[in-house]
Amino acid sequence: MIYFIGAGPGAPDLITLRGMRLLQRADLVIYTGSLVNPELLTFCRPECVCLNSASMTLEEVLAAMTACSGETIVRLHTGDPSLYGAIQEQMEALDRLALPYEIVPGVSSMSAAAAALRTEYTLPSVSQTVIISRMAGRTPVPEREQIRSLAGHQATMVLFLSVSMLPDLCRELIEGGYPPDTPAAVVYKASWPEEAIIRGTLADLPRKASDIRKTALVVVGRVLSGSAERSRLYDPSFTHGFREGTK
Ligand code: SAH
Repeated sequence: MIYFIGAGPGAPDLITLRGMRLLQRADLVIYTGSLVNPELLTFCRPECVCLNSASMTLEEVLAAMTACSGETIVRLHTGDPSLYGAIQEQMEALDRLALPYEIVPGVSSMSAAAAALRTEYTLPSVSQTVIISRMAGRTPVPEREQIRSLAGHQATMVLFLSVSMLPDLCRELIEGGYPPDTPAAVVYKASWPEEAIIRGTLADLPRKASDIRKTALVVVGRVLSGSAERSRLYDPSFTHGFREGTK
């Protein structure tokens, strides 16, 4: 069986128990070397073959999977595999080869970034929506999802793969509708020992975070400055299925 496993954002103890147990019995591990913490490979048996996919093509990844005679093959992707993981093309190729696979979710870097920022992405009356997107780079973004049009909602936004274009990104966000004083942050290598947080506004973040070129998320929105309003769920006067509110 082939398992696509989310390795988590970096700290080795942020992989799931299921992911760790599969790594412990893997015969072959193909890991995304550019982002997966190599410390995770210490869970593998000494006889497990570990290949770094950074220098491999899709065809080479598939060839390694099909050539493996062992029972357990792990394709280890950073964060959660459902976000910018390029797993779809692998799954479709495996479907064509009639090779079975399963997906084990992981802790995305967007969750690790919220933890580092001590932020809740969804606050009552501030934003109840999180938009996950990226700037177009060598990988295109559909025209109808341009940052400028997403910005009109002024929801919480988490931007992957875009920190190297921070000046353009912040300009698009402002031109799309966020006020220039909207709080924004760059979180570099969330959960790694070298984690760094730079806070600012859309107007000044490009200058403050100009040193950071990769492995970072950009978080935008008024949730970053908190909320005075409390939730209804834990309000004494609010009745719901598990608790009777007081008058
Ligand atoms: N599937 C991954 C994302 C892969 S795309 C996930 O769920 O996190 C790679 C991009 O993710 C990087 O360019 C960066 O924008 C972001 N990223 C990955 N790990 C990160 C980390 N520890 N801290 C901040 N951003 C990270």
